[in-house]
Formats: sequence, structure tokens, C-alpha cells
Amino acid sequence: MNDQRPIKVLFTSAEAEPFYKVGGLGDYAGSLPIALKNFFSGLNLDLDIRVVLPLHEKKSIKQFNLEQSFSLVIQGKGQTNECKVFEKNIDGITHYFIRQVQPALASEAIYGEDQYLTAYKFALFSVTVLQMIKKLDWVPDIIHTNDWHTALINHLVRSKRTEPVQKPATILTIHNMPFMGYGSEPVLSEFGVVPCAEDAFPAWAQNLPLPMGIAAADQIVAVSPSYADELKTSYFAYGLENYFLAHPEKLTGIINGIDYDRWDPRTDTDITCQFSEENLNARIENKKALFDEIGFEFDLDSPLLVVISRLESQKGIDLILDALSETADLNWKAVILGSGHHGYEYAFRALERILPNKLHAMMEYNPLLAKKLYASGDMILMPSLYEPCGLSQMIAMRYGCIPIAHAVGGLKDSITTMPEINRTGFLFKPATKTSFIRCLKKSIKTFNDQKKWRRIQINAMQKDFSWRQSAASYAEIYKSLARLVLK
Ligand code: ADP
Repeated sequence: MNDQRPIKVLFTSAEAEPFYKVGGLGDYAGSLPIALKNFFSGLNLDLDIRVVLPLHEKKSIKQFNLEQSFSLVIQGKGQTNECKVFEKNIDGITHYFIRQVQPALASEAIYGEDQYLTAYKFALFSVTVLQMIKKLDWVPDIIHTNDWHTALINHLVRSKRTEPVQKPATILTIHNMPFMGYGSEPVLSEFGVVPCAEDAFPAWAQNLPLPMGIAAADQIVAVSPSYADELKTSYFAYGLENYFLAHPEKLTGIINGIDYDRWDPRTDTDITCQFSEENLNARIENKKALFDEIGFEFDLDSPLLVVISRLESQKGIDLILDALSETADLNWKAVILGSGHHGYEYAFRALERILPNKLHAMMEYNPLLAKKLYASGDMILMPSLYEPCGLSQMIAMRYGCIPIAHAVGGLKDSITTMPEINRTGFLFKPATKTSFIRCLKKSIKTFNDQKKWRRIQINAMQKDFSWRQSAASYAEIYKSLARLVLK
């Protein structure tokens, strides 16, 4: 490979900050391309990385000041589709946006409620990405896809190959295994996509975007080393474990980083008072301001427990509801910020009525409030049943808010509990109410020893959760794939 020639990478995702974000995928896709570009330029190598996203909301065209480049017509079996391609350079990276114009059925929500239309949106997006490349006169050496929404691209690329590895090589990052693109079968048939024939898969998986992408990708990345191990077991791999057991060389685990400029308590102007590990006393001002805002009487003795989460069963929300109800006699206060499953929203509101001066429920998605909670919470509760990586615990630690988490996936990989002197958080297992409550009580006891607690906060704030190391690991994969296709 000639190192002077830039490696061209097309990075695709359903969401990416600052444009669209629902959860950690948005953080990831908004920050990894920049981290990779910086990493390569630090080596005096050029990386030509470009990003392509669906244009979910029509209003984004004005909002982000996007310029239309061209239109594409994609012929399905039953209907003709028209997509428009828009462009914008941000942070030195070209971003393309694909808007489904005809049929005008796409939901404005990133992940709509209608399974068929959501499957249609992402299948059409995937097919259009490959048409867009032809029109651009810019052929990527590597296409990097993320989760089921874009995994069909790996399959489409593979099915056109005449040799085992051919440009573009493809990588698929798995952020959330159980979401495989269910309900996509009729849509794939509409676009003439042939199911994959992979013996290690159960029959039902051969016609779903995520498994098809897994079988077709040249390299697969799980978003933490522990998740890569977990994917070799049936509990976490939902029937695809035999594939990972049979192809261990294809699967690596790389923990996500967070954007250290975006998440920095020293410079964060969204919080009341900036702080660092050297002046943790200033942090208290944030708690005071939050308590004022929500009408809680301020007290320094009760730890403030925060939850900042999608309200889905994956996140262990049942455990949170149970543990808070059963430990209401302890001296904590809690603020819950979350949206999602209506049953959970209702349950938190009901608990708020029972514990009015102790628990405050904010059932919404609100990035500004999230920052205020990271900056003022003493502990963040993350009893997730599974957690491929998890970013909230890393952001929380950066802000001195200590995670109480189930020892699983990326939570296990990012939270240190041993030796005691290096502790950055508290882990428990198994994921039961009893062990969660035991861990919560242990952390509250530790909180009461403020000297010890300060040590834990400082440890947490000093840990490096930036993209530095993980971007280097991705860069190694890019370089080795580029060597295969750039001969
Ligand atoms: P997941 O991607 O599974 O939702 P992560 O921990 O990887 O979980 O990432 C969650 C991201 O979404 C974090 O940036 C977190 O701050 C943010 N987030 C989650 N819930 C909310 C909310 N209700 N309001 C604002 N931000 C939220």
C-alpha cells in the first residue's frame, strides 16, 4: 500500500451529532470520524473520511443549511423511488444526507413506530448509498456501517464482488445486537435483495439486515471487548453466537470513546458552575442550582442519585423502580431523566407522587438537563441487563458522578473497582434487585465518608475516556483492510 495516498472511508450511520441523536450511536458517529481524522493527521497520513446519514426531517435542510447536490432514482419491484442527496462540510468532514422524496412515506422520526416504513427507509437508504458513490466519482476503499440500519450495505457490497476481498472493504460496528431489523423481509424483496446463505445462522436470520451484514462484513467490531466475548454466547447473541464462535478472527472489541471537547466540566457553559478535579467544591453549586430549579430543599448529606436513560427494559428500569421503592427509608434523593416506554414513564410519575420530596421525574429527552444532572449527581444508576458499551457512565465519570452499574459489557470494561485505591465506581452482579440494592447501600455508605468519596471522584475524573486509544485501534483496522484492497 502506498502510504502517501489517502485511505478513503465512507462512514454510515442512522444518527450522528450534531445533526441527529437518540442515544449513544449519535455520540459515536458524531465523534469517531473526527477522532480518526485527527489520529491520522498526527501520523502525517491523510484519511479522506466522509459521512453519510439519512436526512430524517425535512426541516433539517434549512436548519443545517444543506445544499442539494443531485437526485437519484431507485427502481423497486413495485414502485419507483426518488432520493435527493444533500451535502455539508463540518469540522473538515464532508457529510452527505439522503432524503427519501418518493414515495413520501418516510417518518420524520429517526426510528419511526411503523416497522415496515422504518425498514423501508433504511433499506432504501442503503441501496441509495451505493448509487450515490457511483455518481460521486469518489470510490471509497472502505465502507464503515453501524447497526442494522446500515448493515444491508455490507451485504450489497459483498454480493457484487467477483473476488473474496475487493474494494470497497467493509466494516460493521455492532452497537446493539438484539435490533436486527425485524420486519425487513418484504422490503428486501421489494428491492430484489437475495437473502444470505450462511449455515451458522438460524433460517430466520438469513433475511434480516444485521445478520446479513455480519455474514458479509470483512471485519466486525463490537463496542467493547467484553461485548465481543458476550456475543459468543446465546444470552447476548440472540441465536447468532455460532457464527461468532466459528469466525473469531472477524470479531474485535473496541470500547467507544467520548468527545472530550463536547463533554468537559472545565469549559461546559451549559452547567451553572464549571469545575475540575482540583476544585470539586465548585461542583456543589451545580447541585444547588438544580435543587432550586426542581424545588428540592438543598442538603449536602443525601447523595443525589440520577438516571439519564432511554426508558427501555434493556436499561434495567424495573430494577431501578424496585430498588428505589424498597430503599425509600435511606437518605438519598433522586432525579430521573428519561423517555421511552410509556409504562415506565407512568411508573416513575407514580413513584414521584409517593415520594414527592425525594424523587423528581422528568420524562423527556433533554440534552441540557442531562448535562446538569451529570454535573450535580453524586451517583448515576445503570443496572442495564446488557450494555454493549454505554457512554453515560463515561460521561458521568468525567463529571465526577459515580456509576452504580451491572457488571456487564462496556460497563465492566470502563468502571474500575479494584484495587480499592483506583476505584471509579461500583459494580454488581447478577442483575437482581437484591444485588443492586446491596451495591447501592455500599456506595451510600462510602459516600458518607467524604474523604473516600472525593478519592473515587478524582479517580473517575482522571480516567481517559477520550477517543485517543480507541481511534488508534480503528485506525489499525482501516490500515489492514486498506492493505488488502489497495495493492
Ligand atoms: P444508549 O445508546 O443505549 O441509549 P448510551 O449510554 O450509550 O446508551 O448513550 C446514551 C446517550 O444518550 C448519552 O449521551 C446520554 O447522555 C444520552 N441520553 C439518554 N437519555 C437521555 C435523555 N432523556 N435526555 C438527554 N440525553 C439522554
